[in-house]
Amino acid sequence: MQVGQGDIYDVVVVGSGSGGAMAALRAADRGLSVLIIEKEHKFGGTSATSGGVLWVPNHGLPGNEDDSREGALSYLKAIIGVPVNQERLEAFVDIAPEMLAFMRSLDIPVNVGVWPDYFPDRPNARSDRSLTISTFDGRKLGDARYPLMREQYNRFKLFGRYSMDLPETFTLMMQAKGWRRTVINILRRYHLDRETRRASHRDRRFTQGAALMGWLFQKAFERGVELRTETQLQELIVDKAGNVTGVEVSNFGRRYTISARYGVVLAAGGYEWNQQLRDRFYPVPGLTRHSSTPEDANRGEGLIAAEKIGAATEHTEQGWWIPTMRLPMRHASNFNEIHQAAFDVGRPHSVCVNRNGNRFVNEAMGYDSFGQAMVEDQLKTGANCPCWLVFDANFREKFSAGGLLPNILMPDRKVPGDWWDHYVFRAGTVAELADKIHVPRDMLEKVVANMNEYARVGTDPEFHRGDTAYDQMFGDPSCKPNPCLGPISRPPFYAVPINNGDLGSKGGLKCDAAGRVLDQTGSPIGHLYAVGNQAGTPFGDTYPGAGATIGPALTFGFAAANDIARRAANQTGAR
Ligand SMILES: Cc1cc2nc3c(=O)[nH]c(=O)nc-3n(C[C@H](O)[C@H](O)[C@H](O)COP(=O)(O)OP(=O)(O)OC[C@H]3O[C@@H](n4cnc5c(N)ncnc54)[C@H](O)[C@@H]3O)c2cc1C
Repeated sequence: MQVGQGDIYDVVVVGSGSGGAMAALRAADRGLSVLIIEKEHKFGGTSATSGGVLWVPNHGLPGNEDDSREGALSYLKAIIGVPVNQERLEAFVDIAPEMLAFMRSLDIPVNVGVWPDYFPDRPNARSDRSLTISTFDGRKLGDARYPLMREQYNRFKLFGRYSMDLPETFTLMMQAKGWRRTVINILRRYHLDRETRRASHRDRRFTQGAALMGWLFQKAFERGVELRTETQLQELIVDKAGNVTGVEVSNFGRRYTISARYGVVLAAGGYEWNQQLRDRFYPVPGLTRHSSTPEDANRGEGLIAAEKIGAATEHTEQGWWIPTMRLPMRHASNFNEIHQAAFDVGRPHSVCVNRNGNRFVNEAMGYDSFGQAMVEDQLKTGANCPCWLVFDANFREKFSAGGLLPNILMPDRKVPGDWWDHYVFRAGTVAELADKIHVPRDMLEKVVANMNEYARVGTDPEFHRGDTAYDQMFGDPSCKPNPCLGPISRPPFYAVPINNGDLGSKGGLKCDAAGRVLDQTGSPIGHLYAVGNQAGTPFGDTYPGAGATIGPALTFGFAAANDIARRAANQTGAR
């Protein structure tokens, strides 16, 4: 495609994740010409690699009819611990169901998940606000585009190759009834698709985040949205009146400008891969390589460009935290893989301790809260980040510890030799394990003894592990009396280091209820919008439920496009 000076669109969207795709789709649906620029070779962003769950309170789909605006707001009020922009928070609650209705009007298939909100003991918490999207036939994007959408990490696929939807993932993760049949069905479906096998190794069955992004992009392309990959935002262009009129981009070093008649939407994700911004914003040290988002993609370039023209930021001290673990990538020398351990840390027959050997959290609570606890403990003791996940042979039998898969898939004899005592530690007794990981022996022995007593009686008086529906969802129902507490008593004993990883950064550009970027005085910067993790979260310091990053990304993408379309209509009188 020939590109260069003179490119002009009604709307330019920077970044092709969920926020950007929704902004583009909605704007095009309102009759505007739209270009998405994406700096990477592949499009879809972190969103396409994700679980694709969206948190939408008061959506009104079957089961949720008795949810309400007031109920959602009272739940949010009960869990948010820092001052937030109330107008923006209310806008999220009001607009999210409208955004969902728009998706459904385009025949994007939405399902209500059974997933407890992350603070199930708070007023008006529910278990039906997290939504999933049905699988998408990737080939509907066209043969040129289908292999170019980002896909799930290998670790979220069966044997690193076959895509799985969430029910399949949970069935296999818990080795639930029928899991063998699930495996056979997945393999059969993939290998019988001979036509696709001739074209690509890639499963045409897009699931989870790839399904969400597949549907959004199919609808966007149908409406004429253009996508330019390997095109990176460098600067925002501002006219004399202070309105943003376009972007300066680079493509393999060649810089050129693209004009936007009515708006630029910054949707270039967070800054989790920018070490300087992490060091500037976060209260405790953390490394880019602890993030579980696509390597080196989201470096806060939209935020930096907007700050240069006077934009303000908010909630930047926060990440969407999730415990992660780093392992060498097999068959690829010098590469590491980041493994999420969100649900592993709360499984029975295990405990997490800081490097002094102290417990610091209910390990089974939501992953973001787990990360918050790591940060707090690090600030207090200087001995967290990383902490240790300690477990026994019973745990090892059934569950993953980050990238250390359960025995059935990866018995000890198949663990690469160079992982032992570097990434995974094993010993015959708890005391020997403590020595290996340099944690005081007496402390670890005491913690383990306490946990064994809690497992016997079924309650954890220290941190109440296993008390809530959320905790129990990822416990083991066969473990009685508490599905999250099992004795840590069967040798050998193991430990893996757990980092304070993330799903992206939570803070970003300060925006109003329509997604307009605000300057230091609180006034909107003309024609500039930010959505998704490029913007500060409406939720401040918290993570209300599964899908609480993509729900708002889609909602404010939708809101921003509406605002742009309204202004465009006022100017042209035509739309
Ligand atoms: C494994 C995993 C599972 C997850 N599951 C869920 C879930 O189920 N539900 C949920 O709510 N959240 C989930 N998350 C978090 C969620 O995926 C992200 O918070 C969300 O996708 C962010 O969306 P976004 O549109 O802001 O950014 P992204 O999807 O990351 O998109 C940003 C895009 O901008 C591009 N870009 C960056 N800089 C530039 C530039 N200078 N110029 C042009 N383009 C640029 C990037 O390459 C990227 O494609 C998960 C995350 C991970 C890693």
